[in-house]
Amino acid sequence: MQGNMMQMPLLISALLRHADAYHGDTEIVSRLAPGEIHRYTYRDAHRRTRRLANALGSLGVVQSSRVGTLACNTHRHFELYFAVSGVGAIINTVNPRLFPEQVEYIINHAEDEIMCFDPALLPLVEKIAARCPRVRAWVALTGAGEMPESELELLCYESLLGSHGDRFEWPELDENTASSLCYTSGTTGNPKGVLYSHRSTLLHTLAICLPDGLDLSAREVMMPVTPMFHVFSWGLPYAACLVGAKLVLPGAQLDGASLYDLFEKEQVTFTSGVPTVWLGLLEHLQSKKLKLSSLKRAVIGGSACPPAMFDQFADLGVEVIHAWGMTETSPFATSNHLKAKHLLLPEADRRRLRTKQGRPGFGVELKIVDGEGRELPRDGVAFGDLLVRGPWVTVAYFKADGDSVLRDGWFPTGDVATLDEDGFVQITDRSKDVIKSGGEWISSIDIENFAIAHPAVAEAAVIGVAHPKWAERPLLVVVRKSGQDVDREQLLGFLRDKIAKWWLPDDVVFVESLPHTATGKLSKLTLRQQLKDYRWPEVPASTALT
Ligand code: ADP
Repeated sequence: MQGNMMQMPLLISALLRHADAYHGDTEIVSRLAPGEIHRYTYRDAHRRTRRLANALGSLGVVQSSRVGTLACNTHRHFELYFAVSGVGAIINTVNPRLFPEQVEYIINHAEDEIMCFDPALLPLVEKIAARCPRVRAWVALTGAGEMPESELELLCYESLLGSHGDRFEWPELDENTASSLCYTSGTTGNPKGVLYSHRSTLLHTLAICLPDGLDLSAREVMMPVTPMFHVFSWGLPYAACLVGAKLVLPGAQLDGASLYDLFEKEQVTFTSGVPTVWLGLLEHLQSKKLKLSSLKRAVIGGSACPPAMFDQFADLGVEVIHAWGMTETSPFATSNHLKAKHLLLPEADRRRLRTKQGRPGFGVELKIVDGEGRELPRDGVAFGDLLVRGPWVTVAYFKADGDSVLRDGWFPTGDVATLDEDGFVQITDRSKDVIKSGGEWISSIDIENFAIAHPAVAEAAVIGVAHPKWAERPLLVVVRKSGQDVDREQLLGFLRDKIAKWWLPDDVVFVESLPHTATGKLSKLTLRQQLKDYRWPEVPASTALT
């Protein structure tokens, strides 16, 4: 017997329809260039998105067509999110910070037919256009008066919208229809595409809005700093529609001063980003002795948020929501909310829990396994390969000929983690970054977290370097804060009482800067290449081993 309830597919268009109907006068604010603010409402956004849907039709976009973007966070990118998926086509957000060859690879692999790009990215577009034969139209996301000069035949986004009406009925698609496509950065090999559906997007959006997700509501002013090309800005533009929050889109200026300016002017309460983006903001606030007057919460993920960053934000009155996920998990899988019983714990224990990557909410299941696939205990101590499953976790990569990547129905994340009985995850490493010393594993993230707590350290990375006796030993690579000094002995002394003796790095190397991936994470692959000629000193620091 079936239930008697309405059959309404879970569709992305419903999010914008809801925002228009019940939050029609709530603002979406975009910074298009320094000092150039665009301001309109969800009602206006919906109207323009319907025009865009008509315009896409005129360009020959049909169900399952791929429409790519090379763009930062603006209202035009927001309109593309909803128009492309809304008509049943697939939006493929491409990360413009990747190497041109990777951008070209993604556009060709995705079979993008239309590419919409920020005019500032014209040099990239001109470099790759000839090698992207399937792209029928290159659309510059700007007005007719600001169209850039180019040898290429470009279309103008605003002219396209201007030549179409705003009458459009969103089609009632099957909720399992593909809606969006995002490629992982692919630190090794080619980027891999993850193809989301309307259903997976809606379930993920509902989950992140929950109190133990990101706790979002219509009382929030949300400013996602996470780029809209990085796993759909972690789903925040969809969530903003679902709850009807004011949305602030910061454009391309993500330096500390520009972020601070927008936080204050728009009275932002909630933000998101990877740890590296916050280094600039925190330094700016510190050097100028500034306070944040409205910001209450920042979700930090993409790589481990060092505990020192938690404390810096706490001093500014900002709560850090530490979250873990990946492109393959839409991306949110865990966040660090405590339970009632934890509130009774001493401050130090609560802090220890909150600096972990958090626990899964309903819809995400996790387990850790050993090398043979045997499940390991959830005791917060044992660590192994982290596996995940749920309705917003991928089964296979795009065009992988149906080849499932699952292991007995679970997605192997490539992360190594501990899990405790409440489901709190602590990521100890990417499996390829774990340091294997004398048959034991050392967590590079743990050592980095302690090193970055030193007042003279701006950034730190720990990599494993081949060792004749122990297979691998940890090497600490440090960027000093400007105007600050610290040497090898001082740093090792600082770490000595904080970590197990045999975890102590055997040496410290000071560098001007550390390499980052296109999504702002430490690129240990590049760092290992940069330090391939490094040799251990005669007397290692970890005398306990000799
Ligand atoms: P990419 O940056 O390669 O495009 P993702 O953004 O999908 O890929 O990266 C996912 C990976 O980022 C995770 O598997 C994990 O290693 C790392 N990661 C994400 N969030 C955290 C976190 N809070 N702490 C530690 N590592 C994290």
